[in-house]
Order: sequence, then structure tokens, then C-alpha cells
Amino acid sequence: MRTANLSGRLVIVTDDSTAVDVEHASAYRFGSDPQAVYERWSEFRAWVADADLADGRLFNATELGSPAPAPRQVFAIGLNYRAHADESGFDIPDALPPVFTKYVSSISGPVSDVRLPDGGRTDWEVELVAVIGEKAHKVEESDAWLHVAGLTAGQDLSERLTQLSGPAPQFGFGKSFPGFTPMGPYLVTPETLPDPGDLELRCSLNGEEVQKGRTRDLLFSVPALISRLSAVVPLLPGDVVFTGTPAGVGWGREPKRWISDGDLLVSNIEGIGELQQTFHG
Ligand code: ZN
Repeated sequence: MRTANLSGRLVIVTDDSTAVDVEHASAYRFGSDPQAVYERWSEFRAWVADADLADGRLFNATELGSPAPAPRQVFAIGLNYRAHADESGFDIPDALPPVFTKYVSSISGPVSDVRLPDGGRTDWEVELVAVIGEKAHKVEESDAWLHVAGLTAGQDLSERLTQLSGPAPQFGFGKSFPGFTPMGPYLVTPETLPDPGDLELRCSLNGEEVQKGRTRDLLFSVPALISRLSAVVPLLPGDVVFTGTPAGVGWGREPKRWISDGDLLVSNIEGIGELQQTFHG
């Protein structure tokens, strides 16, 4: 199953351009709020299995918002691919990777225009994002997928000057300018994917491929992250977890490379879909 946020309303995506409005199709059993549905995720899943989804309408990707537009908590993970830890000049984490947040006001839909911070060094990070369904607290790895509503694609846009200046890194701050957390286009339930633990991620800047990886190379898989995060913080329905980026970011290049005015960044995850960000100086 694929769901989406179509102009602020929860929809089920029945093919790549057709969406069924959940509030109408369910005769108001479920509301239109794309964020609120995660509180009733298992009930919603059960309803969808038998629902009549014939009455869809065509849509365009520019009408989509984030499948989780207002999570209570956003978790983001650093150094979760070996080659990215290497290019960043850090040791790979052993027991727990770096955990930080991206502030909720930075969330946007999959197709967006992003204003570059003045004098900044803005970088790209394509990432698999897990959205929590059932609350997770002290969850074992073997049970973790049961707490995941679905997967989506995300960009952990990062302004490196803000992130790295000062006596200690400012991860959450440097990664939370307006529009720096695009997500989408769809939330895809794990069983819809042939192998939710092995998806290709790609990112291109103005048509040139800059990142390409597979989620099987995550040092801490989605279940491992949910287990470790939930050992400390209860993960609530609708929370999102950015799982880390593979190698190829601008900061890891020689010479370093940053996004500039007019650039188009396209990010893609196999089985999920594409993000498109256009940048303005
Ligand atoms: Zn990241």
C-alpha cells in the first residue's frame, strides 16, 4: 500500500498518478489529516484491505506534501554508512551512531523550491526515512518492523558552516533551515517492497549522479535503529527517522562542492519514488 499527502489530505495512491481520498472513501470513518492517521494505523490498514478504491482522481507530484507533515519527533542518524563515515573523516560508530533532530518547521513535500542560506555551504544527503506506526518503547530488533508504518524518501539538506562552526557541531541547527527536510513522494508499507532492507538510493545534481548506495549497507539497519532509539526515547506514531546518507556528499569531495543558485537536486529511492528540489540564491 502507498499513501500520500495530497494538498493536505490523506490519500491512497492506486497507481503513479491516481489517488483515492481516504475521508470520502471511508465515509468519514478516517479523517483527512495525513498526520493523524498514524495514531490509528493498524485499524486503517485493516480498513484499506477491504475498501472500495475505484473512485480516484488524477494528481501531479507538485501537489504532494510530506507523508508525515507534522511529526512530534524527528530523529536523524549520522555516519550510518561506512564509506560516508570515511569521507567525513570519522571512525564508524560501534554501539550507537550519532543521533540528532531536524526541526519540524523545515519539513516540506517532495517537489519544492529551497532558498539557500546567505553565504552558506549547502550540501545534499539522500536518505531512507522510516515513519513510525505503533508506538515503540524498548523494542527488540526482531519486533521493530511491526512498529514501522512505512518508508519514504528524504533529503537531509545540510548547511555545513552552521553545522560545523563553534566548539561542537550544531547538527540539528545546520540541517533545519526552511525547506531543508523534504520527504515523499509516498509512504510505502514495508510488505509492498520485495526487500525493505535492501533499496537503492540515488541523488543527482543537475543531472550528474553524486550519490548511489544501497540500504543493505546501513551500519545500523531500520530495525537496529528503532531498537536503539526506543531503548531511550519512546517513538510515537507518526514520528520519522532519517536513517543516514551514503557516500558522495559535497563536503566529502576534493575539492568540496556546494549547491548553488539554480541547481536542481533529484533524489530517488527504489520502490518509493523521487524528490526534486530547486535552489535559489
Ligand atoms: Zn543525514
